Amino acid sequence: MTQQGTLIVLSGFSGAGKGTVVKELLSRYDNYALSVSATTRKPREGEVDGREYFFKSREEFLQMIEKNMLIEYAEYVNNYYGTPKEYVIKQLEAGKNIILEIEIQGALNIKKQFPDAILMFITPPDGRELEKRLYGRGTEDDATVRARLKRAYEEADYAGSYDYIVVNDDLDECVSTINSIIESEKYRASKKLSLIQNIKKDLERFN
Ligand code: 5GP
Repeated sequence: MTQQGTLIVLSGFSGAGKGTVVKELLSRYDNYALSVSATTRKPREGEVDGREYFFKSREEFLQMIEKNMLIEYAEYVNNYYGTPKEYVIKQLEAGKNIILEIEIQGALNIKKQFPDAILMFITPPDGRELEKRLYGRGTEDDATVRARLKRAYEEADYAGSYDYIVVNDDLDECVSTINSIIESEKYRASKKLSLIQNIKKDLERFN
C-alpha cells in the first residue's frame, strides 16, 4: 500500500507571496498537488475558473456547505472560501503531499480534523514590505487593502498555533526550506511505528 500523503497547510498574511511560493513548489518537485478552493470572491484579472479558484455565487457556495462537500470553509473580508473534500481525500490516498493555501480559521479547523497535517505560516520579513506588496499588486481598491492589512494585524496573534513560521524574503530559499521541512516530517517517530512493529515481529522468537 502506498504511504498516505501529507496534508500541508500554507497560510500567511495577504501579500506574503504564498501564491508564488506554491507555484514554485509545484514546478520544482513532482510529489505535490494543490487543492483548488471554492470562493464567492470575484475573479481578479487573469484568474481562471477551476485554476486559481472555483468561482461560485453565494447560493452555490451555501449549497456546497449544505451537501457537506467542503472539508472546511471560512469567511474572509466579506467573502466565503472553502476546500472541496473529494479531491483532497483522493490525492492523500494516492500518496501525494497536498497543499491547502488557506487562511487561519480554516488552518486550525484542518488541524483538528487531521492532526498529522503540517501547518506553515509564511511571512514577509517586515510589515512595511507587506504594505508595499499589497499596494504594489494593484488588484484591490484602497479600502480592501486596508481591510486586508487590518486582518493581517489580527492574524499575527494566531501564528503561534502553526507548526512552522517561514520567512519569504528570498523565494528560492523559502521554497527549499519548506520542502526540507516536509521531507523531514516523514521521519517523525509517529509515522514510523509500523516499521518498528515489523522489526519487533521479526525478533519475536528471541523473546
Ligand atoms: P485571496 O482573495 O487573496 O485569493 O484569498 C484571501 C484569503 O483566503 C487568503 O488568506 C487565502 O489563503 C484564503 N483562502 C483561499 N482559499 C481558502 C479556503 O479554501 N479556505 C480558507 N479557509 N481560506 C482560503
